Amino acid sequence: MTEAWGPDDDDDQQRRGASGPVRVRVPAKVNLHLGVGPLRRDGYHELNTVYHAISIYDELTARRGDTLTLTMEGEGTGELALDDTNLAIRAARALAGYAGVPPHVRLHLRKQIPLAGGLAGGSADAAAALVACDALWGTGLSRDELAGIAADLGSDVPFLIYGGTALGTGRGEAVSPVLARANSWHWVVAIADGGLSTPAAYAELDRLREAGAAGPPLGSTDGLLAALRQRDPRVLAASLGNDLQDAALAMRPSLAGTLKAGEAAGALASIVSGSGPTCVFLAANADDADRIAAELATAGVCRQARTAHGPVPGARIG
Ligand code: ATP
Repeated sequence: MTEAWGPDDDDDQQRRGASGPVRVRVPAKVNLHLGVGPLRRDGYHELNTVYHAISIYDELTARRGDTLTLTMEGEGTGELALDDTNLAIRAARALAGYAGVPPHVRLHLRKQIPLAGGLAGGSADAAAALVACDALWGTGLSRDELAGIAADLGSDVPFLIYGGTALGTGRGEAVSPVLARANSWHWVVAIADGGLSTPAAYAELDRLREAGAAGPPLGSTDGLLAALRQRDPRVLAASLGNDLQDAALAMRPSLAGTLKAGEAAGALASIVSGSGPTCVFLAANADDADRIAAELATAGVCRQARTAHGPVPGARIG
């Protein structure tokens, strides 16, 4: 995939490595279209998805150190292990192994993306760690090389290296940019209490499909891609879709009330984000987004309602 957001920081400095701290900001993702195909022999489902990066961010700071350590503040602090199960640590180790350098770095995460929320927060942190450590260690890899390492860490990780809006195929790791008209879409993001497990949501979808209780699978992404080329949010609203939504609703029936509340507040469309339980609403403009977020917050249908815009770039220094 080619660079969609302009050149990186100074290449020479990247090759030398940074002496001071490297701070990377990485966005959350939503799926504007999440088409789930059959289960593959490797245990993954074949996906046909359109990723979209939105302006809710985790921030990762990488400093020179003698070992590999991680500290954390914000969303998920206390729930999330700071050991080799953490995707930020796994990403740092993967890059060190690929580049043949010692995995020595002190990482600090400031998380705003909710845990297991369907916004790919863990994948975002992995993408941020790849970009931050690459700059700190001066390994100087291209975005495409980083995305290659990212694919082994998780299906959503390559997209978060690039950001923007992109088509995802395979198990979601094969990404190509969507040439959408320069536009900013306005979203409201309703964050729920607690998370939902992504593997459990896929298993529930398989169960619903076997029982004939799932809705018809989404078709191609053509309609959505055409809608993205226009500037009209009403056209985009009619094209959003998520095959995992039935599964998320079966696992967390209260989400139906959240989706309804957003529509009642004037959202043009409401959708579960990825495997949920976060719900996302498309607003006609920024003012409407503010108003819908305020109404959702007072309706008591979510833990927190935030506004966001997209598309935004993926993991970036600064
Ligand atoms: P997706 O939309 O990609 O399915 P999600 O938003 O539902 O992801 P994440 O927050 O990415 O969920 O986390 C999924 C799981 O990954 C968590 O429950 C946790 O066990 C594990 N994990 C490992 N490292 C991290 C991290 N740095 N941040 C969040 N989760 C992490």
